[in-house]
Amino acid sequence: MAKRRIAVLGCTGSVGTQALDILALHADRFEVGLLAAHRSAAPLAALAEQHRPAAACLTGAETPPVLPPGTQWFHGDDGLIAALERTAPDTVLNAITGAAGLAASEWTLRTGRTLALANKESLVVAGDYLMALARQHGAAVLPVDSEHCAVFQCLRGESPAAVRRVLLTASGGPFRTRALDTFDAVTPAEALRHPTWNMGPRITVGSATMMNKAFEVIEAHWLFDLPATAIDVVIHPQSIVHSLVEFVDGSMLAQCGVPDMRVPILYCLGYPDRLEFAFEPFDPVRWRSLEFLPCEAERYPAVALAYDVLRTGGDSGARLNAADEVATAAFLAGEIPFPAIAATCRAALADRPPRPIRSLADVLDADAEARRFAARMTAAAAR
Ligand code: MG
Repeated sequence: MAKRRIAVLGCTGSVGTQALDILALHADRFEVGLLAAHRSAAPLAALAEQHRPAAACLTGAETPPVLPPGTQWFHGDDGLIAALERTAPDTVLNAITGAAGLAASEWTLRTGRTLALANKESLVVAGDYLMALARQHGAAVLPVDSEHCAVFQCLRGESPAAVRRVLLTASGGPFRTRALDTFDAVTPAEALRHPTWNMGPRITVGSATMMNKAFEVIEAHWLFDLPATAIDVVIHPQSIVHSLVEFVDGSMLAQCGVPDMRVPILYCLGYPDRLEFAFEPFDPVRWRSLEFLPCEAERYPAVALAYDVLRTGGDSGARLNAADEVATAAFLAGEIPFPAIAATCRAALADRPPRPIRSLADVLDADAEARRFAARMTAAAAR
């Protein structure tokens, strides 16, 4: 059997490094064709030494790190696309953070390859456009996001008409029980302390605001072709049930397990096969009880923004994502209070009516405009 060639984009991040650990465990089935990161030169060099890819790329640095012989060097955003062309991967694991991951998703779908998508922002900013590309070129999109991987598994072999509703679970983040009148005093260190998942900084803050869950509602809409009314969010602090699907006949399926991103990563890389993994088993008797709670609108105002985006359409997802990137960075820099993240995003969405997206250039325009808007707003708040 020919080995499946994988490109790992965002290879030095949390999902990227966990993916490489798994690929090494199944070296008989996979080969690493391309490793790409943004600026982390030394970690990229170390991973290249270990995994010996045909190519390595830094999108945000021009000076090559010391690479093993046989690993070709690329740099810049154009370099990433050139490296993808050169290494012709079967599967692209896109674990780039933020809207920067869009071009690689676009390339993967346009060339009819399999996209293992950990970069949910691709679908938030350009879901309509990308899913149309996937259909047109017969490309598969496999969700690495744990909730969507759960839904994907529950939907396997089911007819779309049989689905009534999807329930995305959310841990509720570190402020699930915090007094609402103390949210102005939330510090970056507190927001970076996630109770159940170990992830990068932006997504961890996004779990505290639940902007991450808002993005996941939008992601579920595009991945599974579900109307907004068929996507609900439920708080589940233990993060054992990764999501649920309700069918028209009254059956409900859930996918469960001790939280470990390597499980959905391996599922997507091995799909349609299930590959061996030394996981920590979920022992229901030891856990005893699992809780499910409503998603409070005042505690998590970001979640409603997802439904606004799905209602208004066009470039509003791109503007939501851009405003959140800017506002999250401003919060982490100590410039704005925690509740201002969602408030900035709401204001950015309300700034003007949505415009249609016909190309990636339209996405980039919406992104740049919302960034300027959010930067003006956060700078005014910081003064
Ligand atoms: Mg998730």
